[in-house]
Order: sequence, then C-alpha cells, then structure tokens
Amino acid sequence: MSDVLAVAEHRQGAVRDVSYQLLTAGRELADAFGGDLHVAVVGGDADAFAADLDREGVDVVHTVAYGDEFNHDVYTQAVEQLAADVDPAVLVLPNSVNGLDYAPAVARGLDRPLVTNVVDAAVEDGALIATRERYGSKVEVDVAVDDVPCVLTVREGEWASAGAGGSAEIRAADVTIDEGAVGSTVVGFEEVAGGDVDIAEADFLVSIGRGIEEEENLALIEELCEVTGATLSSSRPIVDKGWLPPNRQVGQSGKTVAPDVYLAIGISGAVQHVAGMKGADTIIAINTDPDAPIFDVADYGVVGDLFDVVPALVEAFE
Ligand SMILES: Cc1cc2nc3c(=O)[nH]c(=O)nc-3n(C[C@H](O)[C@H](O)[C@H](O)COP(=O)(O)OP(=O)(O)OC[C@H]3O[C@@H](n4cnc5c(N)ncnc54)[C@H](O)[C@@H]3O)c2cc1C
Repeated sequence: MSDVLAVAEHRQGAVRDVSYQLLTAGRELADAFGGDLHVAVVGGDADAFAADLDREGVDVVHTVAYGDEFNHDVYTQAVEQLAADVDPAVLVLPNSVNGLDYAPAVARGLDRPLVTNVVDAAVEDGALIATRERYGSKVEVDVAVDDVPCVLTVREGEWASAGAGGSAEIRAADVTIDEGAVGSTVVGFEEVAGGDVDIAEADFLVSIGRGIEEEENLALIEELCEVTGATLSSSRPIVDKGWLPPNRQVGQSGKTVAPDVYLAIGISGAVQHVAGMKGADTIIAINTDPDAPIFDVADYGVVGDLFDVVPALVEAFE
C-alpha cells in the first residue's frame, strides 16, 4: 500500500485547474511512499479528460463513464470502488464544493480518517503529516496521520499545476454504479448571479478593497482592467456592500485564486483575504499605509494613493 489515488474535478465540459494541482500533490506523496500516482476521472468526456490529465508524474488514469455533471452518490460509489481496486495509501481529493460534498462520505464508507483544508503534506518516518489551516486561516496545524490509508482534501492554489507531457496508462475503470443507491438527479448547472466570470481561472486579477471608498469609483478600476486585460475581483467588504457579485470575492469565505499576477488595490491584507490569494505567482499591492499587512505577502508594492497611482497606470497602459 504505497500508491496515491487523486480524483480530478471537471465542470461544464472542462477539467478544473485544481485537478492539475492535485497531480502535483499526489506525485509528491507517491514519491514519499515509493508508489505510483493513479488519477480518476468520473463522468464527463472521460476520454478527453484522461488525455488532458495524462501529465508529468501520472502513472495510471482511470476513467469512469457516467453523466456530465457532478453527482454525490455516483462519485462516492466510484471512488470507493476505485480505492478498493488501487488500495492507495492516500486519497487526494479537491477541497472544493464538490470535494467537500463527497470526501466525508468516501472516508466514512472506507472507514478511514479524513483531513480537510490541507495546504501542505509530507511523509516523516512513514507517517503522513498533513498541514491544515484553522481559525479562519490564522493558525496552521500539523496533523500526524499514522493510520493510512487516509483521505485528504487539498486546497486550491497551494500546489503548482503538473506540467504537460505524461505517458500514463489509461484504463476504463471496472466500476459498477448501483442506480438504486443514486438518490439525487443533477438536472444542470447554474452559475450564481454574475457568474459569467470564474475568477479562479483568471491569469491576471485586479482586486479592489475598501480603499475605493465609493461605488462610483469602481469605474476607475474597471478602466484599469480594460486596458490591461485583467479580471476584476475584490475583498469581502465590496461584496458585502453589494458593489460586486459574490463570485468576485477572494478569500476564506470567497474564492481561492492562483493567478500569474494579483494586483491588490486598497486592500489591507487581512488573514481571511490572504488565505484566498497567497498562491498567486506575483503579488503587487497599492496601499497608502506602509504598514498594511498586504505588503508582507507582496512581491512588489506601491505606497501611494490609488486615486493617483491607478490613473497613472491606465495612462501608461493606454
Ligand atoms: C469569518 C470571516 C471570513 C471572512 N472572509 C473574507 C474573505 O473571504 N475575503 C475578504 O477579503 N475578507 C474576508 N473577511 C473580512 C476580513 O477580515 C477583512 O475585514 C477584509 O478583508 C478587509 O477588506 P479590505 O482590505 O478591503 O478593507 P480594509 O481592511 O478596510 O482595508 C482598506 C485598505 O485600503 C487602504 N486605503 C485606503 N484608502 C486608500 C487609497 N486612497 N489608496 C490606497 N489604499 C488605500 C487602507 O490603508 C487599508 O489598508 C472575513 C472575515 C471573517 C470574520
């Protein structure tokens, strides 16, 4: 028992980025245990998804043909059966809405420990040490799991995506879904209001916080987004005020993002905000307060008034 089984996630016909990150986390654990990395893809265009998931470090991709959308009972049954077949030391699932829906059921079904919200994992003296965040991301806790196999849900944005170019074996999984035990039917997928944009998929995010002062000032930030091709996101107060829809919120109670560039404007850098964006490759902050905590995580910073700096940036990009 030294292999790792990661379960990919897809939505509306595309593999989600978190899936590629699971491959990196899974590969690291498989190396630590000295085993293979298996990846499962359940439903959707399983063959195309399997080709996409055949990336660096993947040994086997298992495909389960079933419907297009996520279904709790189908995923639970499929993953339990695959786990019985692969006999992994660790199951790696996404800490997403879907992952958190079926991971506890899988852990219960297999009678194995579950660690959620994992941001790091290592193997020391044969024991798995899973690092998770608690108390609104204020505290990191190392959980020693000596009772493998176990189930981990790993947080999006904490691992890099696995590179392309794998040579995995692709197998149609020998899984039988008991239709009688499928208690729900998924009739479609509907984005929440304003759901035209998924900020988690953006390469360049311009994020605005309470420093913007008034709703009408958002036009300035939208202009910056337009000239730079960036996607607009925000801290929570902007969403709480109803100035932007909830799908634009970055942070602990919003979305976790990992863009190439994250430009934080008028955002203080509270732990609940940073929890959602610290995985960005390059973080740039504009803030009048030189002691704002956002500068602790920023790669580049401008101590200045956004009402001076942003128009200058717009002009420069134009
Ligand atoms: C359970 C819980 C969950 C939460 N979840 C989230 C979450 O998901 N996402 C999130 O963002 N927050 C979340 N919060 C709220 C979080 O604690 C902070 O209150 C919030 O992130 C602060 O937002 P802000 O940085 O925009 O505002 P502020 O903290 O008010 O910061 C505004 C910043 O703008 C700067 N500023 C002011 N004027 C200018 C100017 N003219 N030019 C440049 N800079 C200027 C100020 O110096 C300041 O640093 C959560 C809180 C709790 C308790």
